[in-house]
Amino acid sequence: MKVTKFGGSSLASAMQLEKVWNIVQSDVTRRFVVVSAPGKRTADDTKVTDALIKYYREYCDGQDVSESQEWIINRYQAMVDELGFTSKSMAKIAQHIRDLATLPIEDNAFLYDTFLAAGEDNNAKLIAEYFSYKGLPSRYVHPKEAGIFVTADPGNAQILPISYDHIEELRKAEEVLVIPGFFGVTREGQICTFSRGGSDITGSIIAAGVKADLYENFTDVDGIFAAHPGIIHHPHSIKEVTYREMRELAYAGFSVLHDEALLPAYRGRIPLVIKNTNNPEHPGTRIVLEHTGDNLPVVGIAADDDFVSINVSKYLMNREVGFGRKLLHILEELNISWEHMPTGIDDLSVVLRASELTPIKEEEILRQLNHRLEVDRAEIEYNLSIIMIVGERMKSSIGVAATATAALSQRNINLAMISQGASEVSVMFVVRTEERNEAIRALYDAFFVN
Ligand code: ASP
Repeated sequence: MKVTKFGGSSLASAMQLEKVWNIVQSDVTRRFVVVSAPGKRTADDTKVTDALIKYYREYCDGQDVSESQEWIINRYQAMVDELGFTSKSMAKIAQHIRDLATLPIEDNAFLYDTFLAAGEDNNAKLIAEYFSYKGLPSRYVHPKEAGIFVTADPGNAQILPISYDHIEELRKAEEVLVIPGFFGVTREGQICTFSRGGSDITGSIIAAGVKADLYENFTDVDGIFAAHPGIIHHPHSIKEVTYREMRELAYAGFSVLHDEALLPAYRGRIPLVIKNTNNPEHPGTRIVLEHTGDNLPVVGIAADDDFVSINVSKYLMNREVGFGRKLLHILEELNISWEHMPTGIDDLSVVLRASELTPIKEEEILRQLNHRLEVDRAEIEYNLSIIMIVGERMKSSIGVAATATAALSQRNINLAMISQGASEVSVMFVVRTEERNEAIRALYDAFFVN
């Protein structure tokens, strides 16, 4: 039994919907289909979700909303027309879109979410009808009926654990169930969305709830690339990656899947595959609990910018009990969250995201380091990037760090720091941002080309 989720670009036009239909009908185990709202048809098109945001703003500002309403309704109507079927739900879809502009504005914390959710909700109705028209008995299921109960946090809903028992009941359905992604309902029955891009989360929740054998996430790329295609010319896509590896890659900038989407599937021990609607024959990338075959020690190389490092030196630092705690306490008092802390004998660096600092906070940190901790030297280094090489097999392979540092030194890249966590799932290098691309190329060549 598979849960199959399609992203907005897979559902943007009639042509895309036909591909989706072919994918679903070609495998009888695809029993649960989770859909996004229609995405962009061309680069300068508007996503239905973004059009709903505009519509919401106009409504709240008391402006004329008719143009926005018609544009959104026409997006669905155009698909129906092109697919060449008479849709019974189209009238209800149009009504739903228009009725949004009758909802109370005052004291309605869920109004924005209710507008946004209409994108996926109506798409699911239309797609269920289209599948049935094509001869595959299908049924639209609202998240309330599915049992997707969430916390009352508008724009950032979290699933409530009681949901899973309700969702399991869906296994009994005879038809293919089409479920809108991106939102659930609160205990009081209000519509509440996950964060943006959150249809992936719904798919993962349904997969965990129905105890699926596989969660298929269809997008518009052949899976996850081993490095950024903007830096490496035609990088290969990763065949298999573990949840732990994926977490590390996502941390450092890999964003094919919504961050929060991994958790329900991971906890439910459901394997996940990322596939391409436009190239469904391609095996895509599998995200698994444990590697199944022989893997290279490194599966991917990720990078992220806008880091700074607070570098501190103090003679005999290693013998000073409580030094690290006091330093972190300074950051805590200023409400600063930090990311990494590589240490030497008498040196310590705290790497954090530049967005955590302001000029006033920087001055305060340096002042306190000098006065309260009496350090010999304290400085803040800017424009740093982190590069992570990720792979669970690294811990059983010798020489990975040596290969990486040799590759970097051959290209004259100056390493500001190296850090490896105890889990050995990744090794992190800190370089100056201007050397980031060259460093990624050096590492890619060393691990995947040579
Ligand atoms: N349509 C929503 C968004 O654009 C959710 C999604 O597509 O996953 O954020």
